[in-house]
Amino acid sequence: MKGLSILGSTGSIGLSTLDVARRHPDRFRVMALAADSNDGRLLEQCREFRPDLAALASPDAARRLEGEVRRLGLPTRVLAGEEGLEAVATHPGSGLVMAAIVGAAGLRPTLAAARGGKRVLLANKESLVCAGRLLLEAVSDSGGELVPIDSEHNAIFQCLPQPVRPGHCPAGIRRILLTASGGPFRTWSQAAMVRATPEQAVAHPNWSMGRKISVDSATLMNKGLELIEACLLFGIAPGQVDVVVHAQSVIHSMVEYTDGSVLAQLGNPDMRTPIAHALGWPERIESGVESLDLVAIGQLGFEAPDLERFPCLRLAREAAEAGGTAPAVLNAANEVAVAAFLDGRLNFTGMARVIDSVLQRHEVQQVMSLADALAADAWGRDAARRELGPSGANPA
Ligand code: NAD
Ligand code: MG
Repeated sequence: MKGLSILGSTGSIGLSTLDVARRHPDRFRVMALAADSNDGRLLEQCREFRPDLAALASPDAARRLEGEVRRLGLPTRVLAGEEGLEAVATHPGSGLVMAAIVGAAGLRPTLAAARGGKRVLLANKESLVCAGRLLLEAVSDSGGELVPIDSEHNAIFQCLPQPVRPGHCPAGIRRILLTASGGPFRTWSQAAMVRATPEQAVAHPNWSMGRKISVDSATLMNKGLELIEACLLFGIAPGQVDVVVHAQSVIHSMVEYTDGSVLAQLGNPDMRTPIAHALGWPERIESGVESLDLVAIGQLGFEAPDLERFPCLRLAREAAEAGGTAPAVLNAANEVAVAAFLDGRLNFTGMARVIDSVLQRHEVQQVMSLADALAADAWGRDAARRELGPSGANPA
C-alpha cells in the first residue's frame, strides 16, 4: 500500500489522479489533498477518500472546509496557507506526491516534496521552468524520484533507456522530437487570431485541461515551456529538441538515437495514461483509458510549427538558450499575460508582445537559490504588469 498526496487535487490533473487511485484501493491510500480555494470540491474528496490531511491556500475557504469536516465527523485535519500546502507535500505517510498546482505557485510545495525524498509526479511544469536546477538537485540530494506527468515528457521517459536519472542525458541520443497538437488556432490566420476570444482559446481540440494550460496550448507557449522542461529533465541542449506539430495527439513524443532509430510512445490523449504510468512505475497498472483505435484514426499528420503566428515558441526557445533567470521571467510574464487575456484586458496576440517586451528588458542572471528564482519570478510579474499599463489595459 502506497500513500499518495495530491497538490492541486481539485483541478483537471488532480481529478484524473483520483480517478486512477479510485481504481486501485488495494494499492494507493490517499493521505493528503491540497488546493487553492474550492472548499466544496475538496470536501467531496474528503468524504470519499477520508485523507489524514487537507489544505487550502485560501484561509477563508479552509475555515469553511474545517467547519464541514467537523460537522460530518471526518478524520481529516484541515490546514491553510503555504504551511498547509507544504504539510501535504511532506506528509510522512505519502511516498508519492502528485505536483499538479498550476503556475509558479506550485514551486514551494513541489520543492518541499522533492527535498522530502518523495517520488514527485511532476505535472506542474512551471515550477521546473522557474527553478529547474534547484528542483533536480533537491531530488538527487534527498534520494527522491522525479517522474514526469506532462504527456510529452512521460512519453520521452518511456522511450529512454532505464533507469532515467533526472537531469542526465543517456549516451546515444541524437535528439528529442516534442510533438504539439498545434492547439485550437493551428489553421487560423494571424488576423483571425488577433480577435480570438478566451472561450475559443480554451476549447482545445484533443485535451480537456485547466484554463491556463489551455491558453498556453493555443499560443504554443505550452510547447515552449515543455521545451525548457525537456532540456532540464533529460539534460539535453535546446538545439537537440525539435518541435513537430502533430494534430491528432496520438504520438506523445519521440526520441531519436544516433543510429537513426526513432522510438515513440502512442496512446489516446487522456492524462490518466501518464498518471497511471508514474503511479505504478516500474509496474504497469490499469488507468481506465480505452485502447487506441488506429484504424478509426486513419492517418497521422506532421508539420513544422509556424513561428510567425506563434511567436511564444520562439521566445521560449530563446529563454531556454539564455538560461539563468530567463525561463523564470518568461514564465512569470506569461502567467500575467494569460490572466489578463482571460479577464478580457489583453487580446490574444498581445500576450506574446507583453512577454517579448519583458524579456528584452531583462538582464539574465544565474539562479543559485530559491530566493533567486522567486526574485526573478517577482521581477517578471512586475515588469509584465507595468507593460499592461496602470489600468491593466493594452488593447492594441
Ligand atoms: P487546473 O486549473 O485544472 O487545476 C489547478 C489546481 O491547482 C487546482 O486544484 C487549484 O485549486 C490549484 N491551485 C491553483 N493555484 C493555487 C495556489 N496558489 N495554491 C494552491 N493550489 C492552487 O490546472 P490543470 O490543468 O490540472 O494543470 C495543473 C498543472 O499540470 C499545470 O502546471 C499544467 O501545466 C500541468 N499539466 C496539465 C495537463 C492537463 O491535461 N490538464 C497536462 C500536462 C500538464
Ligand atoms: Mg504536455
